[in-house]
Amino acid sequence: MGCAVKKRIFGNWKMNGSLEANAALLQALKSGASQAACEVAVCAPAPYLSQLHSVLAGSAIAIGAQDVSAHASGAFTGEVSGAMLREFGVRYALVGHSERRQYHGESDDLVARKAQAALACGITPVVCVGETLAQREAGETDAVVRRQLAAVAHINGHCLSEIVLAYEPVWAIGTGKTATPAQAQAVHAVLRAQLLAATTSAARIPILYGGSMNAANAAELLAQPDIDGGLIGGASLKAADFLHIVACAG
Ligand code: PEP
Repeated sequence: MGCAVKKRIFGNWKMNGSLEANAALLQALKSGASQAACEVAVCAPAPYLSQLHSVLAGSAIAIGAQDVSAHASGAFTGEVSGAMLREFGVRYALVGHSERRQYHGESDDLVARKAQAALACGITPVVCVGETLAQREAGETDAVVRRQLAAVAHINGHCLSEIVLAYEPVWAIGTGKTATPAQAQAVHAVLRAQLLAATTSAARIPILYGGSMNAANAAELLAQPDIDGGLIGGASLKAADFLHIVACAG
């Protein structure tokens, strides 16, 4: 039982790009995705949001950030607030990406507060959850993703239906090891049930799959009943691959 709205294909460039490379990639995406049947967004490094804001003006491609501060303003060196992101036309912000949890020590509580800060600025948080390989092998997958989502629901209950959720098994990110469609669907169904129990508007919350989704495996993953789109890392840096995935979501 998937989300009622159209599918979403979001790219996460991670810490990649240059003004020159971005210009070529964005031009290709702009023309290639102009008739897309799904919603397309690109989550770029913060210094390039200004470039995206001007190049993507008037296009069908939404702008996303890869992180957002939990704070509104003040002495938080290096952080970028939701209000600042809004000035560059940002519609989405990843929160709780596993690389932030793993390398920057982000806790479930901090991720929840980042989601809250984004929502307060009119930015849709793309809340990333997912288990490590050790957690999967220990049979803890459902408990881990449920705990990560519960933290976000706990302080954002009243506007939970405004989030986008992304299931990204850590062992599948950037490794070339994709979850099988059945493995991904099973976790998406767990998350869907949790959302249904948490809010009467759960049906409108998209649940994206992320983890080595590419041009070859996208169609099968996107055909699963509870997979409402994809969060694409490596393959979002190649226009042809990303556009092929966009076409699969049509
Ligand atoms: C990601 O960074 O969110 C991601 C899914 O990466 P990749 O597609 O490269 O596994």
